[in-house]
Amino acid sequence: MPDDVIVAFANTGKEREETLRFVFECGSRFGVRIVWLEWRDTKPCFEEVGFNSASRNGEPFDAIIAKKKRLPNWRERWCTSMLKLEPMFAYAKSLGWKKGEYAELIGLRDDEGERILRGFAKAEETGRRVGYPLANAKIRKADVMNFWRKMDFDLALEPWEGNCDLCFAVPKAIRLARIRRNPSCGLWWNQKEVERDGFFDRRVRVADLMDRVERHPDMFDTAEFDEFDAECGDGCGYGEAAQ
Ligand code: SF4
Repeated sequence: MPDDVIVAFANTGKEREETLRFVFECGSRFGVRIVWLEWRDTKPCFEEVGFNSASRNGEPFDAIIAKKKRLPNWRERWCTSMLKLEPMFAYAKSLGWKKGEYAELIGLRDDEGERILRGFAKAEETGRRVGYPLANAKIRKADVMNFWRKMDFDLALEPWEGNCDLCFAVPKAIRLARIRRNPSCGLWWNQKEVERDGFFDRRVRVADLMDRVERHPDMFDTAEFDEFDAECGDGCGYGEAAQ
């Protein structure tokens, strides 16, 4: 990796343990320094952490909810900008890098064209520079899968399980499948809805999703989710509307 390229990972505190392990393993096995960042309500708005010290109980997410005094939702997805983008921008600033003078390189593939176009449009609006090296190299989903098939480690998650463990921005069917596979993943999200007397998704509360899985544990077929590939970075994945 060239010296002037920084690889950064921003932890929301609600990432799956598999994700944290994967980021750590990518760093150690490929010999790449990965900067682990978490949002903090301080100046600058980040702290550098590592695999061992990374938050695992939603602490950064809790802190942005406390700051905003409300929950994010599909219309107001400021969790992405606060938890993912702000710490990375602040880190770049701490290195003396100025907006527009460096490029943000994002791992979207050639077959994720719509998100790439949105990313370019957003960057132009805000005076940033973005680049998509995988898309430039015409790398598609099958190429990525083939690469990882040859490796002796991988993310160890289903394609629909990435990012925050019960991200409200993914379709309801996927949230149900995530709860089904990992029943405790709804607890934190439900607790936030109760504490704030609010909701992440105005159409369905987390408690209802958990209840539905408990009553019909075998109802959900995950095969249809294969094409979804959650990613927090360009709006965290699924376009503007959750289903
Ligand atoms: S993965 Fe979902 S919940 Fe987590 S920061 Fe992104 S949009 Fe927010």
